[in-house]
Parts: sequence; C-alpha cells; structure tokens
Amino acid sequence: MATRPAEAGGFGPADAGFLAAAYAERPAEALLRDVLTSGRFGRVAVVSSFGADSAVLLDLVAEIDRRTPILFVNTLRLFPETIFYARDLTRHLGLLDVRWLVPEQERLEARDPRALRWSYDPDGCCEVRKVEPLAAALAHFDGWISGRKRHQAWTRADLPKVEADGPRLKYNPLADWTAEAVQARAALRALPPHPLVAEGYPSIGCQPCTSRVQPGEDPRAGRWRGWDKTECGIHQSVNDPVF
Ligand code: SF4
Repeated sequence: MATRPAEAGGFGPADAGFLAAAYAERPAEALLRDVLTSGRFGRVAVVSSFGADSAVLLDLVAEIDRRTPILFVNTLRLFPETIFYARDLTRHLGLLDVRWLVPEQERLEARDPRALRWSYDPDGCCEVRKVEPLAAALAHFDGWISGRKRHQAWTRADLPKVEADGPRLKYNPLADWTAEAVQARAALRALPPHPLVAEGYPSIGCQPCTSRVQPGEDPRAGRWRGWDKTECGIHQSVNDPVF
C-alpha cells in the first residue's frame, strides 16, 4: 500500500478515502501498528485529552511503542483531576514522550486576559487555548491519531477510520468501538479510570464547560451545555484551514 508523508506534498482526501476503505473492517491494533511502525505514514502523534476514554487508546499505543509522541493540550482551564490523571496514566503506561502543550501567554493576554472568554465566546476561547497550540505542535507531524468513536455523539456517527485533515491524515482506530468494548478492554487491562467518571462525567473537557450527564443523555451532552457547540475546533472539520 503506497503512502507518502507531508514532505512529498502531503496527504489528501484521496489518500484518506483509500485508507479508510482499506482499514474499515480491520482491528484498531492493525491500523495503529501500521501507522506507527511501517514508516509509510510519516511522523505520527497521538492527540489525547487524558479524559474519560483516553486510557484504552494510550494503552494500545504503548503496547506498540511507548516512545510515540503524545500531544496533550493543557488549556489551563482543565479540572485538577485531569492534570493528576495525566501524570498518573503516563506513569502507569510507561509513556516516554508526552508533550504538554499550553496556550501562548501573549495570545492569552490579547484574547482572554480575564480567563472568561469561555462564558461569552467559547469558540474563540477554544481557538486560543486548544486549536492554536495543537496546530503549532502538529506542524511537525504528517498525521495524528484520535480516540473518537461513533457511539459518542450523533455528530460522530459516520466517523471514518481515516480522514484528511488539511495536508495530513487523521486516524480514528477506535471509530467502531462501542462503549461496552471500551469498558471491557479497560477492565481486561486494569487501566486506571479518570477520577471524574465515577462522579457522572462520561466526557471530560475543561472545567467551566463540562457538566454532569444524566442517565439516558448522550455521553457528550455535558460538554458546552446550553450552547450550540459540540466540538472544540480541533475536530470541527476535516477541511479546517487551521490544520
Ligand atoms: S472547552 Fe471551554 S474553557 Fe476550554 S478552551 Fe473551550 S471554551 Fe475555553
């Protein structure tokens, strides 16, 4: 299977479509192993929020190569429990290259000096605290791996295993995993849970924008509750010009 990294002109929608079809029925481990070890996909990082479901993907990656770069965007508005969990899970899995990304101080002073932008312009807040730091880090990579799954929200119902994301590819090896499959794998591997899951948070983002989810609600219903917003901008569009 021929693939070409960004230096050779980048990947595009045709590459994504071809790979999405090729891996549609293959297990997550096969896609991850090929992407991380074959050398055909260029430089690839994992993007992780160290949230409710993050442990399973990170464990699968650690089984293949603990040196894989892991990009963790610390927006400086995360729950303290998430900071603790990121350190704990890193140690537990023996991850060797977790990169903590933070917003640029100058940009925060210009765009969010009182740290209240989330309350009146969450898109603008996500832009400066998440999208910009991640875009800067991803400039050094040809592709990235996300832990998104189709069952998480109706907006993710058609998620392919591979997407085009500007000049790079985005891999979603867990796209077809159910919530039960994730739980079973976490139990099998005795992975430590995010401490807030037991308190009613099945999806965990920044503290001001995450609320508890009631029984029967979509797992991401607690994210930006009351706003017409379902994604932080990192995953908004496969054609997002930021990436
Ligand atoms: S999730 Fe909320 S606090 Fe975090 S960056 Fe987005 S708007 Fe800001």
